[in-house]
Amino acid sequence: MLFKNYINGEWVDSATGKTFTSFNPADTSDELGEFPASDARDVERAVEAADRAFREWSRVPAPKRGELLFEIGERLKRHKEELAQIMTREMGKVLKEARGDVQEAIDMAYYIGAEGRRLFGHTTPSELPNKHCLSMRRPVGRVGVITPWNFPIAIPAWKIFPAILAGNTVVWKPATDTPRCAYELVKILEASGLPKGVVNLVFGGGNDVGIPLAKHPKIDMISFTGSTETGRAIYQYGAAKLIRVHLEMGGKNPIIVLEDADLDLAIEGILWSAFGTTGQRCTACSRLIVEDGVYEKLLEKLVDRTKKLRLGNGLDPATDVGPVVNRSAQEKIARYVELGVKEGAKLLCGGRIAKDGALAKGFFFEPTIFADVTPEMTIFREEIFGPVLSVCKAKDYDDAIRLANHTSFGLSSSIYTQDINKAHRAMEEIEAGITYINSGTIGAEVHLPFGGVKETGNGGRESGWTAIEEYTEWKTIYVDFSGRLQKAQGID
Ligand code: NAD
Repeated sequence: MLFKNYINGEWVDSATGKTFTSFNPADTSDELGEFPASDARDVERAVEAADRAFREWSRVPAPKRGELLFEIGERLKRHKEELAQIMTREMGKVLKEARGDVQEAIDMAYYIGAEGRRLFGHTTPSELPNKHCLSMRRPVGRVGVITPWNFPIAIPAWKIFPAILAGNTVVWKPATDTPRCAYELVKILEASGLPKGVVNLVFGGGNDVGIPLAKHPKIDMISFTGSTETGRAIYQYGAAKLIRVHLEMGGKNPIIVLEDADLDLAIEGILWSAFGTTGQRCTACSRLIVEDGVYEKLLEKLVDRTKKLRLGNGLDPATDVGPVVNRSAQEKIARYVELGVKEGAKLLCGGRIAKDGALAKGFFFEPTIFADVTPEMTIFREEIFGPVLSVCKAKDYDDAIRLANHTSFGLSSSIYTQDINKAHRAMEEIEAGITYINSGTIGAEVHLPFGGVKETGNGGRESGWTAIEEYTEWKTIYVDFSGRLQKAQGID
């Protein structure tokens, strides 16, 4: 089936006439459709539509915009199972995780919809008599949204929902690995009564659509989630125009296990964080830092459990770990494993492209654990974005924190300990946007700020109350009802 771009409330052909196909990474004979390989001309049309729609949409009362989000939430709920199945087919995550991805969008729709009746500003006393001072939130304008494939419904919802609630209009470029999920989400927005031009969808690649969108003179803000490399380029396009750029980027998230930890609990959290979504979460645990006294014992149990994980198609309820997203991801992971071995890490399990039986139909990689990893090794430093866990030994708590912070990233982190003092120290001492105590590195909730420090972000926070900060500008109002010219700062 051939799908189209969604511009100004209509499904339209791309100016290029070219297309690309979306495949199931668990079985490449399963196709999810053909999508337009758009270019700058399509971006132009979409930005014009967003620009035309802005004035009217920004004047709709915010509580009414919130009602649209409640309707979107209702429809997402109704179609949750169907959306989850499409997601599993399109990017591979196991079905129960795909349901969780859709659930995040549902939660976001309700949480942000309710903000329509808040959008609080401030009032303060004036330094002058007969004068009122207040401040209110205004939308930023036309927002370019650029998203990755690993949370193909949740991440777009984190961005598009607060953007439109705040009165902005949107041009969205989804990842080329998950266009069908994007189509399904926009169909739901359309059916919920989204006015034309408020959200526009342009399919296509980073160079042909992402760059023209980020550079477009009428785009007032870019909200991006993806790799640090791409985010850095987008930040520069934004800087040239002096616009707001929200960036959520890569991670190299550590779990620390101290000697006093509940090891069985830690193992559950490590397995879920390292191999859930086949290690392709921005919050996935890719570095495990274990205190000396429990290092061997923990590794033995962990390797044993990892070897039992079942690889397969995410639609099969017996599957623990689905495929990686595409062939180039599979090859990239294999290259990192080779490097790990070459640089002297000890391969304890996995390490190979999995192609036995039905696995040969897709892009699978065995859950992999390296021990005796040191901070100089590439697998300790670079984001692999696959089912590869690097384990290193720490002498004590301080050494563990030093190792955890020895990274250019800072998204999520975790520590397992029964020592309340060390747990509280870790809350302050780990350099990351998120720290879990006695739980893995994944599982963010939509009503709390989400984002990272160092090269993971540029200071913004997605979701939570901070989402409203991202998508609004402050406007200050002075009302002088004295009937005469009053000058501030005591000027006579
Ligand atoms: P990516 O950077 O390759 O692509 C992300 C999006 O940017 C895609 O839509 C892509 O087409 C587009 N793009 C690529 N080059 C572009 C350019 N030059 N200009 C404009 N747009 C461009 O990332 P990916 O492989 O899709 O996703 C995986 C990455 O995303 C990982 O690094 C992961 O850590 C990160 N991620 C971060 C978070 C977070 O919240 N911090 C969440 C999920 C994923």
